Amino acid sequence: MTQSAHILLVEDAPDIVALVQPVLAKEGFLVNVVSSGRRAVDVARAERPDVVVLDLGLPDADGVEVCREIRAFSDAYIIMLTARDTEADKLVGLSVGADDYLTKPFSHRELIARIKAMLRRPRGTSARRPRRFEVGELMLDEGAYEVRVADEEIRLTKLEFELLATLMRRPREVVTREEIISGVWGDNWYGDDHVVDVHVSNLRKKLGDRARDPIFVRSVRGVGYRLGECRPTSDSPSR
Ligand code: CA
Repeated sequence: MTQSAHILLVEDAPDIVALVQPVLAKEGFLVNVVSSGRRAVDVARAERPDVVVLDLGLPDADGVEVCREIRAFSDAYIIMLTARDTEADKLVGLSVGADDYLTKPFSHRELIARIKAMLRRPRGTSARRPRRFEVGELMLDEGAYEVRVADEEIRLTKLEFELLATLMRRPREVVTREEIISGVWGDNWYGDDHVVDVHVSNLRKKLGDRARDPIFVRSVRGVGYRLGECRPTSDSPSR
């Protein structure tokens, strides 16, 4: 499955395209290359790639804006390529829906490893029987891939959904950052723990959770996170 995944590479630097495109193709991925932000949005809409590798510095658009636009209609995994290793850049990228980032110069091995780790992530269609969980007004339905707060549907990225599901599958228990990384990104993930905190913060915002004294996703200092009172309520109708 991983082998036939479709990747959209958005990069205007010919040397990087020349390096990365053949490596991705050799891994068996279908690769589209575009060099502008405008084309990236159009092709993402038309071709529905599984993964978007997105350069932040594009000639016609800010990569952050392109990411935001693509995320508005697509749940593709998005990896950002950034030339600057500043915390602010990473946070901005993750806050507009990117799943991961790589700082240039990066090795093509690392890029391949990150892509494969993303594609290995558990999806809503796992072999496990899908369940439905509720905590207060928060509801997550694994089968329908749906999250609601007070009956209002909340749009989450795949990553945010898996993050929330990982917490909800362990009612009332503290889930460590390492366990979250293993559950959401897979065991071969190379990123840093801080990314978990950023995604949790984004998730809280979408759920309307208060930063101080959140009712849903609670921090356990130095350890990880846990959901408030949470238990499986029923099995979803099987399909
Ligand atoms: Ca560039």
